[in-house]
Amino acid sequence: MALHIYNTLHHKKELIEPLKEGHFGMYVCGPTVYDRVHIGNARPYVIFDILYRLLKRSCKVLYVRNLTDVDDKINKRAREIGSSIHDLTVQTIGWFHEDMQALGLLEPSHEPRATQHVPEMIAMIQNLIDKGHAYTAEGHVLYSVDSLREYGCLSRHNRDELIAGARVEIAPYKRDPADFVLWKPSDSETPGWKSPWGFGRPGWHIECSAMSCRYLGPTFDLHGGGQDLVFPHHENELAQSTGAHGPHTFARYWMHNGMLTVNGEKMSKSLGNFVTVREALQKFHGETIRYILISSHYRQQLDWTDEGLSQSKSSLDRLYICLRGLVDDGHENAVDPKILEALEDDLNTPLALSRLHEIATSINKAKSSKSRMQLMQILKASGQILGLFGLAAEDWFTWRSAAAADSLNDEDIKSLIAERIQARVNKDFSAADLIRDKLLAQGIHLEDTPNGTLWRR
Ligand code: AMP
Ligand code: ZN
Repeated sequence: MALHIYNTLHHKKELIEPLKEGHFGMYVCGPTVYDRVHIGNARPYVIFDILYRLLKRSCKVLYVRNLTDVDDKINKRAREIGSSIHDLTVQTIGWFHEDMQALGLLEPSHEPRATQHVPEMIAMIQNLIDKGHAYTAEGHVLYSVDSLREYGCLSRHNRDELIAGARVEIAPYKRDPADFVLWKPSDSETPGWKSPWGFGRPGWHIECSAMSCRYLGPTFDLHGGGQDLVFPHHENELAQSTGAHGPHTFARYWMHNGMLTVNGEKMSKSLGNFVTVREALQKFHGETIRYILISSHYRQQLDWTDEGLSQSKSSLDRLYICLRGLVDDGHENAVDPKILEALEDDLNTPLALSRLHEIATSINKAKSSKSRMQLMQILKASGQILGLFGLAAEDWFTWRSAAAADSLNDEDIKSLIAERIQARVNKDFSAADLIRDKLLAQGIHLEDTPNGTLWRR
């Protein structure tokens, strides 16, 4: 395997050479569990799922994706809805798993919860204090950014940007406004743990430093997340881990996805311009959502539109049509080499998708049923490395979204039937079949009789 990935740390594409041959350790920052995830949050999980699938072909992969279940956003939401923190986080984790399953994600090797690793966080903070990278002040423990010469090397922010970007509270107990919190005091209303610095709770950044070390060791291969995490979250993780375990390197490669946007603006809870994964799943199959999320390169910004979703659905219809009649021989079939090549070149999923369509064209043109069947097997295996084709073609076309139920009125149906008749007159049988399958997906059955096409729900 000659996998190249753009390494945020060095601002260039690099050949990935695992620390230990045949093994690969990766850590991806997981959700803060106070509410349903939106489509933007799903983008990194889908992207890293494809990386995981690709790596698993040649390495033993240890994939760690955490759950942040202690955070001030969680405390605030629990207060707002009058729920206990425990109930809120347990319910949100359940929703998250349902959503990720619907998007066809493989489960990571470990999914640690921050609350289960507080002793490791406390030990790491103590280590940072002992080494002169952290100090205590009024029940808080703060990281001293001045103590680490390399601070800022990941995001390449200058000092003013570090302060402004961190949006750090100007607190009188901080020695430097850019210093960030490792530990803060809790009262009886907020979750807390006993520590050498009093009853309190960890800051967000230390959670990931401690959990990545616990499962992957102080040095591991790749760390990932969205570009919005580069600063301050990943910069601070890097500072903590380097401070605690240096001179060891922390993550050797850093990989970040671009933002999902709505009308050019980042999809986010705070802007209110978000669509939850669950809402999207009411209308579209998880594979359609996955398809749009991988339809542009992961480092590019991607705008979320209804047209984009409809196009993804049509593209998948076209591919699934080519898989109709595929006989599963139970063998693991070969993935198309051009698709592997595209993915090994910084996870070029749009190129991989266009190659799937080329294979579909070859299937449509295949002269013998044997070569057609062989191409179908390649198409299926190649789509599966992208997490597609989890269904049999027949099931894809009969799947109905919750929102689609009874959504077609009689006039819509009649006009689609007229379109289909015209397509058949034009000898465009695949277009005619597509219309029939679209109707079938909505529970509308057609019957061609000498007296014309009859339909029933
Ligand atoms: P959060 O729960 O906000 O920490 O986000 C979880 C993951 O989603 C992180 O990797 C973020 O970088 C990523 N993320 C958040 N918003 C977006 C977005 N609009 N587009 C792409 N990724 C996002
Ligand atoms: Zn993290």
